[in-house]
Amino acid sequence: MLSVVIPCFNEEQGLVRLKEALTKELSAIVPEFEVLLVDDGSKDRTLEVMRRISGEDPRFRYLALSRNFGKEAAMLAGLSQARGEAVAILDADLQHPPELLARMLPLLDQGYDQVVARRTRKGDGKVRSLISKMYYKMMNRLVDVELEDGVGDFRVLSQRAVRALLSLGEYNRFSKGLFSWIGFDTVVVDYENVTREVGGSKWTFRKLLNYGIDGVISFNNQPLRLAVYLGGFFTALAFGYIVWILADALIRGVDVPGYVTLVTAILGIGGLQLLFLGVMGEYLGRIYYETKRRPHFLLKEVSGDSDAPVSVPLGPGLDRQELLQHTLEHEVRPTTGAKL
Ligand code: UDP
Ligand code: MG
Repeated sequence: MLSVVIPCFNEEQGLVRLKEALTKELSAIVPEFEVLLVDDGSKDRTLEVMRRISGEDPRFRYLALSRNFGKEAAMLAGLSQARGEAVAILDADLQHPPELLARMLPLLDQGYDQVVARRTRKGDGKVRSLISKMYYKMMNRLVDVELEDGVGDFRVLSQRAVRALLSLGEYNRFSKGLFSWIGFDTVVVDYENVTREVGGSKWTFRKLLNYGIDGVISFNNQPLRLAVYLGGFFTALAFGYIVWILADALIRGVDVPGYVTLVTAILGIGGLQLLFLGVMGEYLGRIYYETKRRPHFLLKEVSGDSDAPVSVPLGPGLDRQELLQHTLEHEVRPTTGAKL
């Protein structure tokens, strides 16, 4: 059986079309499937549409998060509830064409654990493409995992890859890095980029920038290392300067000029200190979040009619079956027809 996880945030306009496309494609390529629609705290009627879809076709299940937790959390929620031997992750906006699954699934049968779709950058803004390209170049120098341009969350995972992902309990989830970190045999399938037809992209420039910084910080400590190097460099420079100034004063006596040198030094060093204080703060902030050990998301509703809040703890040693068991035993009040 194939599970398809779909994170949705304000996607009321596209869901019905998505359902039709999925039903058509999936029935042609797999004998049995389930679709997990995850409502990531949408502000529009997404949840209503999901309820209706799920009512019409029980193969479509849904989970609703209690608020907008972000795509990473929504995907995680879906993965934690998926029951298939393979799990595909798709966007709700049909930018990840379901037709491609027909090419991806056979590769999974050949023994790959991750089948990844890579898009071309057709239809993207020139500037955005260029920035992305530079970003990935820089990232791959910096971080310990390998990241690739055009590769996103569109992929099919084997059960053990899913289990591996769920076993990573960290709170700050930079999924591109996590997918790469778990490793396993991975194969890439290329496809032509599709532009969004309804609704708008949920990525604003600020979100993208933050995501980029997350990527750098989540997977390495190079920025801290850079602080050490730069600190060392400036200390050496300062020592040299001190020796020179002392010698100068001894030989020629003290004279007043030196204002420019002074101000430049104060500003330069002060700026650097602030910058790296910021870097330290970033890491500290992350540690702060990790130590709280908050759940990654809360569920407010699942298909069926349970309205009990559900949180799913992750971490080493919890596999998917246990997770499911956990939510069933502890948090969801048994309700008639709950399909969790
Ligand atoms: N999404 C989500 N939560 C968010 C933002 C986005 O679940 O906070 C979902 C969204 O509904 C879509 C997918 O993530 O299914 C990708 O979003 P979008 O199409 O806006 O991103 P883009 O394709 O522009 O990268
Ligand atoms: Mg999209």
